[in-house]
Amino acid sequence: MFKKKIFRQQQFKFMILNLLAFTIIFAIFGIIIFSQVQNTLYSKTDEELSSFKNKIADHFSGEIKSPMPNNGVDPTGPPNRRQKNPNPRIMVVEWSEEGQILNKDEIGTLLYENYLYDYQLDKTNIDQVTMTRIHDLYDFRYILIEDTNEGDEIAYTQLMINVDPEQLILNNFGKLIIICSVIFIVLSISASYFLSKKMMTPIIHSWNKQAEFVENASHELRTPLTIIQNKLELLLTAPQEKIASKFENIALSLAETRRLSKLTSDLLTLARADSAETQLVKQKIHVDSFIRNVCVPYSEIAESQDKHFWLNLNSDIQIEADEVRLHQLLVILLDNALKYTGENDSIGVKTYLEEQRIVLEVSDTGIGIKEENRKQIFERFYREDKARTRESGGVGLGLSIAQWIVEQHNGTIKAIPNHSKGTTFKVKLPK
Ligand code: ADP
Repeated sequence: MFKKKIFRQQQFKFMILNLLAFTIIFAIFGIIIFSQVQNTLYSKTDEELSSFKNKIADHFSGEIKSPMPNNGVDPTGPPNRRQKNPNPRIMVVEWSEEGQILNKDEIGTLLYENYLYDYQLDKTNIDQVTMTRIHDLYDFRYILIEDTNEGDEIAYTQLMINVDPEQLILNNFGKLIIICSVIFIVLSISASYFLSKKMMTPIIHSWNKQAEFVENASHELRTPLTIIQNKLELLLTAPQEKIASKFENIALSLAETRRLSKLTSDLLTLARADSAETQLVKQKIHVDSFIRNVCVPYSEIAESQDKHFWLNLNSDIQIEADEVRLHQLLVILLDNALKYTGENDSIGVKTYLEEQRIVLEVSDTGIGIKEENRKQIFERFYREDKARTRESGGVGLGLSIAQWIVEQHNGTIKAIPNHSKGTTFKVKLPK
């Protein structure tokens, strides 16, 4: 219940994070596109305004530079700002210092009465292209120029272009972006939900695996501890007895202590493997001689158990490997071969080269592994027959460690059934 609540909270957090990321990306994308469209639409009008302004400036500077005939009186009257650039889109408004429009006639009665009769002079943005709205309806871009020519009343010249069509396009585009955003947000809610669910799957899987591991480990630790505790309590009830008479209890306790010690060291190996703490110390190892040495005690044990032990070593090469881990791998496979064979069975180790790889096979003619369990045997704490393996001291961690060692050496391991009977563990390692 508690676990489910944590998972749900975590999934919700992931979902919000995904949604936030999607929204931010889309918002940035929308803003960039909108401003780009806006710039493109207004660039033409701004260009027209600027070039008109430059022409006016040139006109006046030309006027000042050339001395005026007729004792300084200009026969053409006040300079006409349209003279050099009759751009029909641009409306030229001439302002007096007091904010009165001076060229009402030039603007035209209709234009003046429709747009400008109550329009106020705004001196904030001189020489900059600015946006304004007249009567809350008509959009203009304008540029206000300070008129330095002392020969007339004009204090400011305002060049205006009506941009209603551009503004209409922008408004429609803005609406489109808003509609797309709403659709996108709805879609990204579902996408975020789906992604957060996907993100949670490996977390839930490893959480469950971890919980299962802890549960199995504590169970495996509790069993020998309970046995030891019972046996010791039994010994305490008869303190006068001789050790020889309680030999069985002591031997059993000792066996369980050994089992505990092996179990804790296996658990430690796997815990370190999980945290990637264990570093391999690789060195050159001559495989065949190494295997021959490791197998010496095992052939003796096999002999003492009336089992046949054979070696068939055909890979006269050296490989880069961690000696301690390679030893551990062989011990696990040979221990299992001994554990799961009976009298007159045979156990053997074979090496050979195959496709640039060295193959190491540990075979036995023992009880074999059922087809359906062949993949699971590499899982932690997996045992085919729990009662039988407990008798032989196994807890189901050996093959998990073996697999980890092989993977650390970039190799592969698998269990193959023998033609006659028993199993062969085939390990492939790179040369
Ligand atoms: P255990 O310590 O129980 O042997 P392992 O991880 O080494 O744990 O092996 C897991 C299981 O795989 C064993 O419980 C056993 O059922 C099966 N197994 C491993 N090696 C052999 C083998 N050589 N022959 C038959 N079964 C085997």
